[in-house]
Amino acid sequence: MIKFNQNILNINIENEFMNASKIVKDFKEKNPEKDIISLGIGDVSKPIIKPVIDAMKNAVSDLENIESFHGYGDSSGYSFLKQAILKNDYKGFSFSEDEVYISNGTKTDSSSILELFDINSKICMANPIYPIYKNGAYSLSRNITFLPCKEEDGFVPKVPTEKYDIVYLCSPNNPVGIAYTKDQLKSWIDYAIQNEAIIIYDNAYYAFITSNDVPKSIYEIPGADKVAIEMRSFSKSLSFTGVRCSYYIIPSKICDGINGIWKIRTINRFNGADYIAQRGAEASYREESQALIKKNIACYLKNTKMLKDFFTSLNYTVYGGVDSPFIWVKIKDNMTSWELFRKFLEELNIVVIPGRIFGTEGDSFIRISGLAKEEVIKKAMERIDHYEKE
Ligand code: PLP
Repeated sequence: MIKFNQNILNINIENEFMNASKIVKDFKEKNPEKDIISLGIGDVSKPIIKPVIDAMKNAVSDLENIESFHGYGDSSGYSFLKQAILKNDYKGFSFSEDEVYISNGTKTDSSSILELFDINSKICMANPIYPIYKNGAYSLSRNITFLPCKEEDGFVPKVPTEKYDIVYLCSPNNPVGIAYTKDQLKSWIDYAIQNEAIIIYDNAYYAFITSNDVPKSIYEIPGADKVAIEMRSFSKSLSFTGVRCSYYIIPSKICDGINGIWKIRTINRFNGADYIAQRGAEASYREESQALIKKNIACYLKNTKMLKDFFTSLNYTVYGGVDSPFIWVKIKDNMTSWELFRKFLEELNIVVIPGRIFGTEGDSFIRISGLAKEEVIKKAMERIDHYEKE
């Protein structure tokens, strides 16, 4: 008889996004007349900017003639995009193309990167956390220790006293919506250096950072290039949630041969991100593109602030939303996050994300996204305001 991967079967789907999606889908089917507003999903509401679209159209045209056709490329990405990343995002750092990997999404890489390390490596991550790290790790038969992130600690995990080999950090953070300051990150870098640990740093929301004491890249912290792998995505900044393109840096200073072994793994597991997406991502570094991207991000952050101010005005305690498009709203009544999720859905027809999806420590919170359209957010606020004042 075929035996399935028991670690995947063990994932508790009751507390996963897929369960929330199923409840919403069932509710929609039973109530087709209801106007459901989503403040839950982390998808974007802006189209892809014109210079990037034009670059992708040109890339499509390249494929029409065999002289400019692009077939299988380098598994780690095209040089043109690696150069654009190095010249723009890592200006002032001394990374080389061999340390840059282009990929088709941080979701995949954030857990598949574990294939680089011994199966018995000790892994730790925060609770609450972006659930993909833990489920990805479980699927690869890894064990994890969770570091509780309490409200009183500002939801930043405390540096542990015991030794771990791999540490997951996510900043700006999904779900909590906060970003780690230079000092907070420095204490983790010091920990990693002392304990010969590797930090997997998910920096997918780097474009949303506005605070001066928050580094855009972990490599701004001295010593980080000896211990940290930084992952970034074009999903939110470029509206590439459907196009798919991302990248990560594995500094060779981490240890001799690290890029050699990872290249062997990658060439056997991945045929590279697609040419069209990589041409689009390259075009995002043009001056005209950067101005348009900043405008879109400013708009998302304005929406997020509007939501934060709104919930605060209703006497909710609200976290995040300054360097991130997410707010983390504390539940006022004695309700679990799934109960409040259902109440919002059934009584207000608004979708929010129950904090329990991100871990046990999230159960007194809901996550709300400012990535929706301004008019949709305003409509949701009107409904909530009306309901609360009834
Ligand atoms: N990392 C975090 C923290 C996220 O919230 C998300 C998406 O919501 C991702 C990674 C996924 O990024 P990508 O679209 O590049 O796979």
